[in-house]
Amino acid sequence: MLREKTKNKSVLVVGAGLVGTLEACFMAKRGYQVHLYEYRPDIRTLEHVPGRSINLAMSLRGRTGLKAIGVEDKVIRDHGIPMYGRMIHNTDGSTRPIPYNKDGKCIYSVGRRFVNEVLLTKAEEYPNLNIHFTHKLTTCRLDKGEATFVNTVSGEQVTRRADLVIGCDGAYSNVRKSMMRQPFFNYTQNYIPHGYMELCIPPTPEGGFAMPANYLHIWPRGQFMMIALPNQDCSWTVTLFMPFPAFEGLSTPELLLSYFKTHYPDAIPLIGREKLIKDFFANEALPMIYVKCSPYHVGSTGLLMGDAAHAMVPFYGQGMNCGMEDCVVLDELLDQYKDDFATVLPAYSAKRNPDAEAIVDLALYNYIEMRDLVNSRAFLLRRKFDDLLSTIMPKYWLPLYTMVTFTRTPYHKCISRKKWQDRVVKHILSVVGMAGVAAGVFLAKSDPLHVLSCSHLSQLPALLSRTWVAATSLSITRK
Ligand code: FAD
Repeated sequence: MLREKTKNKSVLVVGAGLVGTLEACFMAKRGYQVHLYEYRPDIRTLEHVPGRSINLAMSLRGRTGLKAIGVEDKVIRDHGIPMYGRMIHNTDGSTRPIPYNKDGKCIYSVGRRFVNEVLLTKAEEYPNLNIHFTHKLTTCRLDKGEATFVNTVSGEQVTRRADLVIGCDGAYSNVRKSMMRQPFFNYTQNYIPHGYMELCIPPTPEGGFAMPANYLHIWPRGQFMMIALPNQDCSWTVTLFMPFPAFEGLSTPELLLSYFKTHYPDAIPLIGREKLIKDFFANEALPMIYVKCSPYHVGSTGLLMGDAAHAMVPFYGQGMNCGMEDCVVLDELLDQYKDDFATVLPAYSAKRNPDAEAIVDLALYNYIEMRDLVNSRAFLLRRKFDDLLSTIMPKYWLPLYTMVTFTRTPYHKCISRKKWQDRVVKHILSVVGMAGVAAGVFLAKSDPLHVLSCSHLSQLPALLSRTWVAATSLSITRK
C-alpha cells in the first residue's frame, strides 16, 4: 500500500555523510526512487579520509535512527566502545570518575568513517537507491525540485529533477545557500572564538589502552580543556579546545611543552613528548561554527536536514545524534500525513526547529559545564541531588544530561524542564535556609536546659512546616 503511493516518486538527497546516507535509506525503505549525490569519492575505497573528528559519541537519538534501518547492532554491539561517565583529570595527575547516570547507562565511542561506511553499504542493499559519488552540487532550485551537479572526475554537468530535494550537505551547505533569497527564510551563523585540534594517545607497547577505556576523559581547565575518546585500535583521539590566540601563542616546541607541563602534565607521557610536538605542529586549529535557520523547507519540494539545518559546536556530542533523529522525526511525520509532502514539510519545520535551536544552545552551554563546572563543588552537589530526586520520582525528575542523551524528550522540553527544576531547587534551598533561621530563632529563645526537652522539640516540626508552607506558597508551576 505504502509502496504503491511512493514508488513513482523520486527523492534526491545531497550529501552522503552520516545524515544524508541514513535519510536516503529511510526514503528507500518507504519505497521512493532515491538518488544520493556525494561530492567525495566512495570513502570505502580511500586509504585516508580527510576531515573532522575520527570518533564520535553516539547516544539514544542516533541509535534510534540506526535501529530503524537495521544497522544499530553492527555499529553499537560489534564496534562501539561504551563510555559510562566522564573521567576528570586534575592538574596534579589524579583522576576521578563522574558517572553519566545512576542507572549505569552509557554512550558509545564510534568511528565516523566506520558508521558512514556501514550506512553506505546498507544503502546499496536497496534496489531503489542509487549513489552517485564525485558529484558536487553547484546550484539548485528547491522550489522546482531541481539540482545541478558537476562530476568532479569527468567535468560533466548534470541537472536532475525530483519530487523532493533534501539538503544534507553539512554545515557549509550549498543547498542552504540557495534558500537565502527565499522570502521569510531566516539564517544566522556564528563562529565561537575557540578552536580545536586533534592529537592522539597511541596504544601501549602491549597493544592496550593507556587509560581506563570506558570513559570520556576530560582535562577541565576553566577557560579551555582537553578531552579524549577511545578508538577501536586502543588509541585515543585527543581534542584540545582553547581560544585561537592561545593556539597561536604556542609557537615553539618549548612553549608547547611548558604549556602541557602546567596544564596537562599527565598527558605528556601518554601522548609521548616527540609525538606531541610533531602532531601539534603538523596540525592546525580548526574553527567551530553554529548555525540556526528556519524554516527548513521550501514548498513541497525542498528540505534541509542535519548540519545543513542546524550545525552546532561539538560539546554535547549531539550533532550527529540530532541529525539522525531528524530522519526519525521526518519518517514519523510521513507516516502521520501519509507521505503528502505538502503537509509533511511545513509540519517538519514547525516541529523540528524549536528542538534543533534548543540543542544548538545546549551545546554552547555544555562547553562551560565540561571545561569549568565539573570542577565546582556546587555543580557536583547538584548532580547528587538530581540523582536523588530522580530515584524518588523518576517520572518527574531527570537530570538534563540524562534527558538529552538517554531519552528522546524533545530538546526544547529538556530546557524548559531543567528551568522548572532549577526553580524548584531554588525554592527548596530558600525553604531550607528559612528553616535554618527559624530553628536558630527557636533555639535562641529557648532556655538551653529545656531545648532538648520533648515539649520544645515537638514544636519544631510545626515551625518547619509553617516555613515550608510560606515558602511554597510562592507558586511553582511546572511547564
Ligand atoms: P556532514 O557529516 O558534514 O556530511 C555532509 C556531506 O555532504 C559530506 O559527505 C560532504 O562531502 C557532502 N557535501 C558537502 N558539500 C557538497 C556538495 N556541494 N555536493 C555534494 N555533496 C556535498 N556529533 C555527535 O553526535 N557526537 C559527537 O561526539 C560529535 N563530535 C564531534 C566532534 C567534532 C570535532 C566535530 C566538528 C563535530 C562533532 N559532531 C558530533 C557533529 C557531527 O560531526 C555532525 O553533526 C555530523 O557529521 C553531521 O552530519 P551531516 O551528514 O549533516 O553532515
